Amino acid sequence: MSNPQTRKSCVVPKCMNTTTNAPEKLFFVVPSNAQMRKKWIQVMKRVDPFGAKSCVYCCEDHFDIEKDMENYVKYKLVGGRIKLKKGVPRTY
Ligand SMILES: [Zn+2]
Repeated sequence: MSNPQTRKSCVVPKCMNTTTNAPEKLFFVVPSNAQMRKKWIQVMKRVDPFGAKSCVYCCEDHFDIEKDMENYVKYKLVGGRIKLKKGVPRTY
């Protein structure tokens, strides 16, 4: 977390979003916790886990962020930290 300029790219297959070509999009860090990660992988429809990569991102396109974020409106207005609701992501 020492370099906020690090380029992030979405881990979902066929999704080409990166912080370079889609700077307006939000990128969520995929949790390193194995159980949570499994859930995210399900939501992202990604069969293959991310292997040894510890820091991977998923862009907002794969979420219903207005509903899934606890502080979406506040975040859009004043910024700050992204907070996902408990139990997110759920499988739709
Ligand atoms: Zn994406």
